Amino acid sequence: MSNSYTGRFAPSPTGPLHAGSLVAALASWLDARAHQGRWLVRIEDVDTPRCIAGADQLILEQLSQCGLTPDDLPVWQSQRTPLYQTALDALTARNLAYPCACTRSQIQAELARQGLAHARHGELIYPGTCRHGLNGQVGRAWRFLTRSSTSNQAVEHVLLPQSATNSIAFENSSRLTHWLDRRLGKQSQDVEKTVGDFVLKRADGLFAYQLAVVTDDTAQGISHIVRGQDLADNTARQILLQQALGLPTPQHLHTPLVLGPNGEKLSKQNGAQALDTRDPLQALNAAAPVLGLRVDASTLSDWLVQATAQWAAL
Ligand code: GLU
Repeated sequence: MSNSYTGRFAPSPTGPLHAGSLVAALASWLDARAHQGRWLVRIEDVDTPRCIAGADQLILEQLSQCGLTPDDLPVWQSQRTPLYQTALDALTARNLAYPCACTRSQIQAELARQGLAHARHGELIYPGTCRHGLNGQVGRAWRFLTRSSTSNQAVEHVLLPQSATNSIAFENSSRLTHWLDRRLGKQSQDVEKTVGDFVLKRADGLFAYQLAVVTDDTAQGISHIVRGQDLADNTARQILLQQALGLPTPQHLHTPLVLGPNGEKLSKQNGAQALDTRDPLQALNAAAPVLGLRVDASTLSDWLVQATAQWAAL
């Protein structure tokens, strides 16, 4: 097994696996196997109100029925909050995180006052109201100071490319965060303009996905992230956090999405059916073409061997 490759599948237990999430799980497993690497599973139950009791066990069972077994015990984000607090404390100590007193309606009102566009994918672009202090109000959430991480020399210093194949660099004086996606090619995003100072710890005390994912990817030694294309949009924010914390940035590959009958991404939210893994070959045969694979095998182990060889040759 190569110790330079560690991949992961990181499902949120908001329901069982469906046809779309199996594609992401399969791609990350195949990529790890094709690189003789390790493959881990992390249950992302940090957003506890959205989690469904028992969905974690169901997902692990579905994965195992498809022959996708992790190389170490799964971890649960809900048990790792001290790690996320340590990361937040490190950002705060570097003045890269600050408390925010704004409610959603205050943010909306401020955006309207400034005549700014509201939402991007339903998320409000934070107008920076609490950047310079709380004005006597009580902090509710914690936000990342997006601008500093691209303009602060000391931080930029840590941000030089990790490797030739994962060239992530900040152009001098540019606010764009760049990365190279193995499937989508060159990507860039101006996080400050399109997202704003994003939340690290929510008003309800829960840690936000961005901070948890970056902390765990480092703690678990993840070198390669393979996940659905719907998550590509988070990559720039995660790179900024990695850079601000002096952490390495993994390589990225975002996989094609499975679309539902309405042409939208298949998701638990739009009623995707739970995957029936009692016949794993059928489930895997449905997932394979999405990844450009065509496998013809009558046993699960043959199927996975063939798929791995095809993936390695893509
Ligand atoms: N937990 C996220 C989801 O299920 C995936 C996170 C990731 O792969 O970075 O959408």
